[in-house]
Amino acid sequence: MSTTDIQVMKQAHKVLAEFTYEPGAVERGYAGRTLYVNLSDNTIASKPVTQQMKDVFVGGRGFGLRLLWDGISADTKWDDPENEIVISSGPLGGTIGYPGAGKSLVVSLSPLTGCVMDSNVGGYYGPLLKFAGWDAIEVQGKAERDVVVFVDGDNGRVTIEEAPEEAVDSHVLGEQMAEMFADDEKGKRAVSSVSAGAGADHALFGCLNFSWYDARRGRMRYKQAGRGGIGTVFRDKRIKALVVKFSGVKSGLNNPADPERLREVGRRVNEEMRRLDPIQNDMASVGTAHLVSIMNDYDLLPTHNFKYGAHPEAHKISAGVYRELYKPAGIPDGCWYGCTMACAKAIEGVTLRTGPYKGQVVGVDGPEYETIAGCGSNLGVFDARWVAELNFYCDTYGLDTISFGTAMAFVMECYEAGILDKEITGGLELNFRNVEAAAELLHQTARGEGFGLIFGQGIRRMKKIFAEEYGGDPQFLQDIGMESKGLEYSEYVTKESLAMQGGYGLTLKGPQHDEAWLIFMDQVNNQIPTFEDKAEALHYYPMWRTWFGLNGLCKIIWNDVTPEDNALTDEPAKIPQHVENFRQFYNAVTGQELTKEEIIVQSERMYNFQRVFNIRMGHGLRSNDAIPYRSAGPVTVEEYESRAERYDKQLRDVVGFDPKGKSTEEKMAALRAYREDQYEQLADTVYKRRGWTPEGVPTLEKLRELGIDFPEVVEVVEPYL
Ligand code: SF4
Repeated sequence: MSTTDIQVMKQAHKVLAEFTYEPGAVERGYAGRTLYVNLSDNTIASKPVTQQMKDVFVGGRGFGLRLLWDGISADTKWDDPENEIVISSGPLGGTIGYPGAGKSLVVSLSPLTGCVMDSNVGGYYGPLLKFAGWDAIEVQGKAERDVVVFVDGDNGRVTIEEAPEEAVDSHVLGEQMAEMFADDEKGKRAVSSVSAGAGADHALFGCLNFSWYDARRGRMRYKQAGRGGIGTVFRDKRIKALVVKFSGVKSGLNNPADPERLREVGRRVNEEMRRLDPIQNDMASVGTAHLVSIMNDYDLLPTHNFKYGAHPEAHKISAGVYRELYKPAGIPDGCWYGCTMACAKAIEGVTLRTGPYKGQVVGVDGPEYETIAGCGSNLGVFDARWVAELNFYCDTYGLDTISFGTAMAFVMECYEAGILDKEITGGLELNFRNVEAAAELLHQTARGEGFGLIFGQGIRRMKKIFAEEYGGDPQFLQDIGMESKGLEYSEYVTKESLAMQGGYGLTLKGPQHDEAWLIFMDQVNNQIPTFEDKAEALHYYPMWRTWFGLNGLCKIIWNDVTPEDNALTDEPAKIPQHVENFRQFYNAVTGQELTKEEIIVQSERMYNFQRVFNIRMGHGLRSNDAIPYRSAGPVTVEEYESRAERYDKQLRDVVGFDPKGKSTEEKMAALRAYREDQYEQLADTVYKRRGWTPEGVPTLEKLRELGIDFPEVVEVVEPYL
């Protein structure tokens, strides 16, 4: 990319609106104002952050929820101009002395689910935005033509600029934004952009790429706000990029109330990380790829559309292979300054085999575990290099690798079951293992062509189309289509873990593992045997994990390294020492003195507020928490028979049904009746523990107890009580 190219692009910009402001300083984690941008009428405005905003909504995802609630009505749809994209870091976001403190939280109405979506992402945008003077950016309206919104934190200026010449795909656009807005090569670290890609123009599972400049690799890197189609909303608003510039990042910019306390807890955490990560999960070398073999060993690695949990070829996509591919080796790969966990691995020097960039040599950010499982084992693909190819194109097209992988696995099973054929797919033979056909379908999706247009609708809509237009059995499609609330499953097999079925189904946004990841506690370690135990876990863990999103933090720091004596504590699964570290961190920055119980209450407030928000949008009730049967048990005869010993034993020992002499179909029916009933009983117990009615509605008592019984909140729940 030449300087002339960038100048030509820049000259083609037309400034539609300009707003100037005093940059200001951050106090105790807050900039004290949020930035409002309307792309329909080119308004740019500043909104104050009130004490109530901080006390009740904390920051990050909480700010996103409050601003979105106020910005839309109960009738707003994802593609209405009123829908917003809110990005916020949170009061602890941008801290350098504590690892994993550079996350941005994105909130919007989802095209896939129709309800509220939140996504937690690395990269520099959120923290730089705060240091540029804004706790959040709230983008509403739709532009007529493609625009870039530029926040210049160095000079106190915000502009909306028409940007006709820039690329759409992220790996090109991110570089263009850095070239255009950075003062020089070194200054690229001061610039971060948010972008999507051509895929987000046509598919409902568009994602966002958040960039940062990696000086060691000499290129822009990207982390994805993947889930729920926020990239689709972004492109529907005709945004090419949101760009922020802030020079002079250094420690202390959050102006913590007690810098010494912060230094002390940060030093402890970093020291432990450096000492224990290499002998525990070795995240700094292989990132989350280490999970592949663990999941495979415990029959949890999704294979062939979640039919099975293990495969003899899994070693070909496991940590040993990626350790060789992640290059250059030994580079600290933090997605924000000072992350000693440094798990954001990348593969350099990949020559692309397909698509519009075929033959080009690129860097691939990842793949992480979810992408390896989604674009690998779940498709029957056990070739690390092809997984990297799908990873690259999903990212640059602005498509979520998890939704892409799970939707592709669904399509492949439909193809093998005879619901789809070559006539429908335009000649693509979409059998499991056929990664070239999968790649071609991905390119079609990005071009908005052929079967790619149907594929881009996601599983929930495909189920309807396949039943109505191609004669598929609706019940079979329902059973094997791995979505709940309209969101595709992330990549764990949950058949043998009732708690994890709840961890995917009894959620706010849909089946994403960031609310509650209970498989090991439940299935492997049998630590939560009763309904009450599982319900307690399905209360505590979503609340604890929500807290990271309120504060701009990465949850990996909490549990991927554990203290040597963790097993001796009262509640090892909660990792009490790390909870205490986070409490110290929060109190040191904000100057409050919250207990660990009060921290959970902060999250519980937001969790219940978001549940009510979903109800307001026509979702968020018990019926919306249903899960497909494949996540609870075997759907097909081959699936049952592959683990017949396990299922027969359970029928005999637990269900009270003698499998002897029974057909596989009879046994499957008995097992299904039992497991479906278990899920309903779990829902009853969890709702009760959360203070909700049997229909899953927060009670007035619960809302009062949490201090969120605002008139507009009570008005939503009252008809259901
Ligand atoms: S642990 Fe990994 S994902 Fe989390 S902040 Fe650090 S580098 Fe980013």
